[in-house]
Amino acid sequence: MRTPLIVSPIFVLHTKKIYKCFLATAFLFIANVSLAQQYDLLLKGGHVIDAKNNINAIKDIAIKDGKIAEVNDNISTFSSKKTIDATGLYVVPGLIDIHTHVFVGNKANTFADGVNSVSPDDFSFKAGVTTVVDAGTSGWHNFPQFKSQVIDVSQTRILAFLNIVADGMDGKPIKDDFSNIDVDSVASAIQQYKDIIVGVKIGHYEGADWTPFNSALHAATKSNTPLFIECHLPQYSLEEQLSKMRSGDIITHSFEEITERMPIVDSMGKLRPFVLAAQSKGVLFDVGHGGAGFWFNQAVPAFKQGLIPNTFGSDLHRFSMNAGMKNMLNIMSKFMAIGMKLDEVIAHATWNAAKAIKREDLGNLSEGTIADITLLSVQKGKFGFIDAAGNKLPGKQKLEAELTIRSGKIVWDLNGISATIWNKE
Ligand SMILES: [Zn+2]
Repeated sequence: MRTPLIVSPIFVLHTKKIYKCFLATAFLFIANVSLAQQYDLLLKGGHVIDAKNNINAIKDIAIKDGKIAEVNDNISTFSSKKTIDATGLYVVPGLIDIHTHVFVGNKANTFADGVNSVSPDDFSFKAGVTTVVDAGTSGWHNFPQFKSQVIDVSQTRILAFLNIVADGMDGKPIKDDFSNIDVDSVASAIQQYKDIIVGVKIGHYEGADWTPFNSALHAATKSNTPLFIECHLPQYSLEEQLSKMRSGDIITHSFEEITERMPIVDSMGKLRPFVLAAQSKGVLFDVGHGGAGFWFNQAVPAFKQGLIPNTFGSDLHRFSMNAGMKNMLNIMSKFMAIGMKLDEVIAHATWNAAKAIKREDLGNLSEGTIADITLLSVQKGKFGFIDAAGNKLPGKQKLEAELTIRSGKIVWDLNGISATIWNKE
């Protein structure tokens, strides 16, 4: 026979009190935790390199609403909804690639709206890049198409140099009648899309007339933006190009040795004095690696004689990514093998690149800035870096993107450092 359960009224009262007290405590705890968790994401214990703010030290970074909310020595994990352990990694601003071709479309044999360009999201985040600048694949006439077709539908931030030619790199080089060049239309397009277009580009002209170059320079001056000079200008002398360039204008394919332009290092291995003088007056030298634009017999002696590239533009397109270029991190690692220090290559890939395109809102980790952040590892081992001549430079370290964050959102996570460990038990 079961014994009936007798509960004393005093016990019931006491239990109710405990229950009420528990509820109140739980409520207060939850309220406090949610109040304390004012950040969305915390990157804890990483080595921060932020050239703009002169930081090269272990720091924590907190993110809220897509922006950098706090950078400090020790931010409590209780203050954030999510924490990522960044110990052993370098935490840097999202990389900026100032030379790409991303006006991808379905036309054969062309870059503008064509298959020779690439889709930026397919390549950017896995290389730690959060901003790419398209190098004149579009002109004022087809820029609206580029914008709606690629820029507006990509996660990567896409900025652009506008080609001086109306339809950009549509496979038709500049002709000597110059009917496809209109300075006023270029300047007004830059004004209309000033949040996207960062300058004017000239390239692909085989004549000797300086009208296309001068028009591009005029449009850049009129719009107060940099002139970006690519290659395929075989009849322009290098010295004259550099002498016409203003402080802040950019020459790319700096280390090429092809017939289209005089190389910056002469046949005796000497850096031409007017090249170094141009950099001293403020002309910026972009790597512009591409498929054929990077040669060790240019880059190594130039570096030893004092010409360090200002930026690491990759010249990403269909034909460069599988050659010696690969991606921007590979170019940065290549320059570490040549002799640059890690904090220098980070500075040139972030803050220097932002300054080159006059977008000082990017390339830094200041509080209040949009949270474009890259977490890098330095892999140690035996690596090889290739140039356009087929030479290999051995290296002992290589940069890899572990985590890429775009506007506070994780868009690349190589080894799942932001994920929860799966336990099947
Ligand atoms: Zn290019």
